Amino acid sequence: MNKAFLDYLKLSVEDKNKSDKESIDIPALVQFADDFLRQIVDSFNRTYYVPQNGQLSLQWSTESRCAAWINAAKDSSAPFHTIYITYELLIQLAADGYAFTRYAIQWLNRPFHDVFWESKGIEKNGIGIFPLGIDPLQNKRFLMMNSLHWIVSHEIAHSLQSHAAVRSGVPHQAWMGPSHVSESPEGKEPCSDVEAEIFQCTELAADFEALRVLFITLVTSKRAHCKENSIQEDSLTKNDIWTLFLSIALVFLRFHHFDGKRFDGIVKGHHPHPSIRYLLLSQSLIGLIVKTDLKELAGLNFSEEEMFEVMTGTFWVALIFWAERYETDYEVISFGEVVTDPETIEVKRYLSKIVSRWDELRPIIRNIYKNDFLLMEFNIFARRVSGIPLPQDEQDGHHEI
Ligand SMILES: [Zn+2]
Repeated sequence: MNKAFLDYLKLSVEDKNKSDKESIDIPALVQFADDFLRQIVDSFNRTYYVPQNGQLSLQWSTESRCAAWINAAKDSSAPFHTIYITYELLIQLAADGYAFTRYAIQWLNRPFHDVFWESKGIEKNGIGIFPLGIDPLQNKRFLMMNSLHWIVSHEIAHSLQSHAAVRSGVPHQAWMGPSHVSESPEGKEPCSDVEAEIFQCTELAADFEALRVLFITLVTSKRAHCKENSIQEDSLTKNDIWTLFLSIALVFLRFHHFDGKRFDGIVKGHHPHPSIRYLLLSQSLIGLIVKTDLKELAGLNFSEEEMFEVMTGTFWVALIFWAERYETDYEVISFGEVVTDPETIEVKRYLSKIVSRWDELRPIIRNIYKNDFLLMEFNIFARRVSGIPLPQDEQDGHHEI
């Protein structure tokens, strides 16, 4: 370990965060993120908004909290949506990626950890704990790009699926309905029962769509780069998927860090517990890669076992990093329990409420948003654990995901 990193390890958690943030060239980061996100916004404008005479815009916010949200113009017959992201969220995501890279190269590479990695089937054959072929610095940039892309796509999914209107019980009003959907760990009265179930179902539906949008974009941009001869491989590699799983794990560990509460299986509040969000999303990503028609189209050839191995490997690396960096053993253990042992009474209790509520909501949203590929469908894992089978009228022609 180099001297600078040893000195850094002696700092308090807060001072480490300060140091991580000070290591970032913030004007360059903001410029990069702004250019990157405007390309995504332009793409959504071309695909969805312009054909409907609407517009999607992006606005940075100076609020001092980690947050993203989306607003719709009221009383408009076309969709006019604005996504807001705080600079604080961008800087925190970059700081987490920066810290992860340092720990993954140095701290997680110690002989002390080797027994643990071996017990989890993780091979140390690249730089630090990175798999062979991953460039840590390039990976750091990809982590942030994936996180930002996923967060923005999640916000857009809320609007495209008219979640604000669905939550207010007026889904037929679509674009003209209530307009504000926010991701924030604070600032709202807690809710429970049916209201919480509707909020949490729509959060999971936005998670699901965002993951699929991100994945498709990664597949198509890899092909485009290949055509331009900048890279040789035209489909996603196992290393690309390693980085993707890791990006998602770090985002949800960040969300969990806001309050660190244990998952108890009760549906309350506006957002699902981060550990259940990660669990459902990671299961969904494995299904997407190995079981859908996309597998053939994108030239992906991975078995379920291989993808499960990549998912669990990145999860352990992210979890151990978080425990070391933020000194929060309890927080990561409670997060890890849900993911590594998902067939518990708490998960079953939670999914039985959520799956049946979504079975009611999905046809309503499907009337407004006719995109079966992007509209959430609970997979075989969630159906089994919840004990709720697929509705009879959807069983014919159903593609498991
Ligand atoms: Zn949301």
